[in-house]
Amino acid sequence: SDRVVLGPLVGSIDQGTSSTRFLVFNAKTAELLSHHQVEIKQKFPKEGWVEQDPKEILQSVYECVEKTCEKLNQLNIDITNIKAVGVSNQRETTVVWDKTTGEPLYNAIVWLDLRTQPTVERLLKIIPGQNKSFFKTKTGLPLSTYFSAVKLRWLLDNVEEIRQAVRDGRAMFGTIDSWLIWSLTGGKNGGVHCTDVTNASRTMLFNIHSLEWDSELCHFFDVPMEILPKVRSSSEIYGLMKSGALTGVPISGCLGDQSAALVGQMCFKDGQAKNTYGTGCFLLCNTGQKPILSEHGLLTTVAYKLGRDKPVCYALEGSVAIAGAVVRWLRDNLGIVKSSSEVEKLAAEVGTSYGCYFVPAFSGLYAPYWEPSARGIICGLTQFTNKNHIAFAALEAVCFQTREILDAMNKDCGIPLSELQVDGGMTNNKILMQLQADILCIQVESEYRYARWKKAVMKSMGWEISEPQANGDSSIFSSLPLGFYIVSSMIMLIGAKYISGIDK
Ligand code: ADP
Repeated sequence: SDRVVLGPLVGSIDQGTSSTRFLVFNAKTAELLSHHQVEIKQKFPKEGWVEQDPKEILQSVYECVEKTCEKLNQLNIDITNIKAVGVSNQRETTVVWDKTTGEPLYNAIVWLDLRTQPTVERLLKIIPGQNKSFFKTKTGLPLSTYFSAVKLRWLLDNVEEIRQAVRDGRAMFGTIDSWLIWSLTGGKNGGVHCTDVTNASRTMLFNIHSLEWDSELCHFFDVPMEILPKVRSSSEIYGLMKSGALTGVPISGCLGDQSAALVGQMCFKDGQAKNTYGTGCFLLCNTGQKPILSEHGLLTTVAYKLGRDKPVCYALEGSVAIAGAVVRWLRDNLGIVKSSSEVEKLAAEVGTSYGCYFVPAFSGLYAPYWEPSARGIICGLTQFTNKNHIAFAALEAVCFQTREILDAMNKDCGIPLSELQVDGGMTNNKILMQLQADILCIQVESEYRYARWKKAVMKSMGWEISEPQANGDSSIFSSLPLGFYIVSSMIMLIGAKYISGIDK
């Protein structure tokens, strides 16, 4: 009856390592209207192995979409106003499925997984000089267990069903974005098999200069090119949702999660950086239209390409495998906290690690070391050490790892960062954020740049800082074309991370 009139809305699918979220925003005002979140199971079938069920991931997306739409209905908000949907996803995680049945042929191998360590060692032997940076000029990446190509190689080497499907022309490879977009746009009944440049740049099969799959790399990793998705820009219409409450709505945006956070923090200028504290920790610095090769162990990655005819932007990236995952480990493996947020209370009670150090190298060490054989250690223990000190040391470990990345970034860029923009589930933790500022000796800014910018604009125009009115047209997004709505939804993703800690 009394429908709230809001104008165009956008939906954001945020498929992370820990959870899936769907969020709906007012495209004109950037206000978050409703959201839903579901935790994703992680399987550890063997030491070092990390898998997820692609069907569970897809199901969680459907569940989040349906639940969010129900909530919007209860708020009397007309879901037919949702004009576009975007996908932001955990990167590198690898899926191979059968295009005739729509069924995955194996669990998803999660980015953190270490089973490919022998694969990496074997490949290294056939690289001139056993140089793990041999393909860095082309890909921006060192040879590591982290990227999709070696995970795909492992699947082709070890799963007969996948080899058979490749021989029969039934196999499709994709990262989580491809799996979701293909499934949501119809799956076996004509789904669109694509990925975006940011996700493609994490496979190690992609040339980050020509923005195409690279036949030399595919030959090296012995990957059949016909199973790869088509590479598109990060902002264009890929296809339409084919089922559920949003049937017919275009999917018009796709960014790997760390690129989405960079866009979300509005780091559009050269030299602007953000650090995201999720399962892992990822510091990305926009380097503009020029890819810069790191001399200090960082990655060069595609930051975004916001439209088919728009320029590509690159970033330098420092990747830390284990950040929030160490807190989840304290919860699930040691059982010293019942929820992730409880770690803050434990740490606050002591305010020091008392000489205890925790190196959470559960998945080897990523940047700047790229050492897959490294393993975790807790040291400096005495009779006095208790769970509080270990909790404190775990939080400190996240900060020390970021410090190493920031030091490398400053050396590569020449101009030291003077403040750090932060987001992600762990930034709910105030002690962590204070520790981080103390360890970096620069300001750590957890209010996302868009909110700060909006406040500043409103102040300078003499406007009150209050929620914009329904139907109001004083909006920054009102002049943007439809395909671009999705970028605004990425921008809003970040704000949403604050209110949606999964185990609060
Ligand atoms: P992802 O995008 O990788 O799925 P999120 O940004 O959703 O991750 O953050 C979830 C991670 O943050 C989990 O590993 C969880 O343990 C951690 N986390 C969430 N809240 C807190 C908190 N208050 N203190 C410390 N860690 C937290």
